[in-house]
Amino acid sequence: MMNKEGIVAGKVAIVTGGTRGIGFAIVKAYLDNGAKVALCGSRQETVDKALAKLKEENPDYPVIGLCPNLANYKEVEEAAAKVKEEFGRIDILANNAGISARESIYEYDPDAFSKIMDLNVTAVFNGCKAVAPIMKAQGGGSIINTSSMVSIYGQRSGCGYPTSKFAVNGMTKSLARELGPDQIRVNAVAPGVTRTDMVAALPEDMVARLAATIPLGRVGEPEEVANVFLFLGSDMASYVTGTIISVDGATIS
Ligand code: NAD
Repeated sequence: MMNKEGIVAGKVAIVTGGTRGIGFAIVKAYLDNGAKVALCGSRQETVDKALAKLKEENPDYPVIGLCPNLANYKEVEEAAAKVKEEFGRIDILANNAGISARESIYEYDPDAFSKIMDLNVTAVFNGCKAVAPIMKAQGGGSIINTSSMVSIYGQRSGCGYPTSKFAVNGMTKSLARELGPDQIRVNAVAPGVTRTDMVAALPEDMVARLAATIPLGRVGEPEEVANVFLFLGSDMASYVTGTIISVDGATIS
């Protein structure tokens, strides 16, 4: 059995949307388990803030911050090259950045639909395309995409969000087949309701009502989702590819 302390020791990870929420928990999980990490955020200030928070906890964390426009392939390719230059390799890509939607189809601005596709789908494609040749040349790697429980059930409004996550599942399963021969594993994690800023902003009674509908009786914590990213990024998951792992307390809709 491998020692959990060093489960990703020596590996280099890129985490998009790593400044807060689930992404920040993934960054911490990788750093605390021996990896070097490049975290990406949408703005330099939030990236700097996340780096400062990490350095306050442990000044020796091997972490750098970047803020490429993830919807622009050239910028993503340059960011991947920078990470390789800084840390020498790329073993794990956690495609985590994402936005959600709530609008009804009657009010849905077509530009908002395109925006959600740009970040939740095109950015995932860009990340996979940028790291795949680097991982192939190294002899393998692990790509982990963030899906959602709505990729199974859909949702009652904001159809762009589940649509984007169904696409993430399709890309995950397809790239697992395409990149398997290059020893690049591709999986997705599908969280249920998770206590990030979005959920923390809801009134407590609303969270309690929500929790009552979940068989485990509570919403998930970002660290519980990050644990699955940790496993999938590690060699303990060496035969796991092309799968969508739910982390949702058995939520059924
Ligand atoms: P969050 O809003 O707390 O964090 C989102 C992250 O994405 C931030 O780091 C932000 O900087 C980054 N981001 C947002 N827009 C960006 C852009 N245009 N370019 C680059 N980065 C951008 O979100 P979260 O709740 O931690 O969600 C993370 C992932 O988990 C998302 O893909 C989301 O769809 C998925 N998810 C979350 C939940 C939940 O309940 N929180 C449930 C299912 C799936």
